[in-house]
Amino acid sequence: MKLYLASGNAHKAAELQGLATAGGLNVEIVSARAVGGMPEVVEDTGTFVGNARKKALALRAKLPADAWALADDSGLCVDALGGGPGVESAYFAGPQGDGAANLAKLVGVMREVPEGRRGAKFVCVLLVCGPGGEEKIFEGESAGRLAHEPKGGAGFGYDPLFVPEGHEHSFAQLGDAVKAGISHRARAWARLAEWVRGRA
Ligand code: IMP
Repeated sequence: MKLYLASGNAHKAAELQGLATAGGLNVEIVSARAVGGMPEVVEDTGTFVGNARKKALALRAKLPADAWALADDSGLCVDALGGGPGVESAYFAGPQGDGAANLAKLVGVMREVPEGRRGAKFVCVLLVCGPGGEEKIFEGESAGRLAHEPKGGAGFGYDPLFVPEGHEHSFAQLGDAVKAGISHRARAWARLAEWVRGRA
């Protein structure tokens, strides 16, 4: 089965392709570039599901009638920030969507927040949209806490600051293989994979 990925984020594409390959699932993640690129989408619905749906539908409109679009909308929900930046994670430091600036801003706003009040979770919604408007939604979360300083070189976005539950190192220090076992994206993907197997 081919899933056309409604995203221009190369890190998400790589993680999703890695999850598909590792699971031995007969799924190919096809870049939106194959159909002329991801259309511009304003992510303004205020929910992960709403934003994922908007992205999937925008790409679906460009696909052959029998093809499926896959969208990933994800973000980091920080307890001390009332669940923010949440759906605004990509634009925390401004509309340009600069990952390094977003991370630096989070380090700054969390500077005075003591240990014990630094809980956070990553959330991922994977939404597939197929022929006739059929839609399936798969969600995954990964709970943890925020370190005081970013550490590690793997991953992307807020990975250097996020320490998943049961670990002492950030996602960016733990690396892709560990992240692929416990991340919000991996957990949402596991549910999607179950759906794919059920269709076979
Ligand atoms: P989206 O494109 O609106 O889904 O934005 C997702 C944003 O959430 C990214 O730009 C990152 O800032 C953050 N994010 C989502 N998933 C991850 C992850 O696995 N690691 C680090 N940051 C992530």
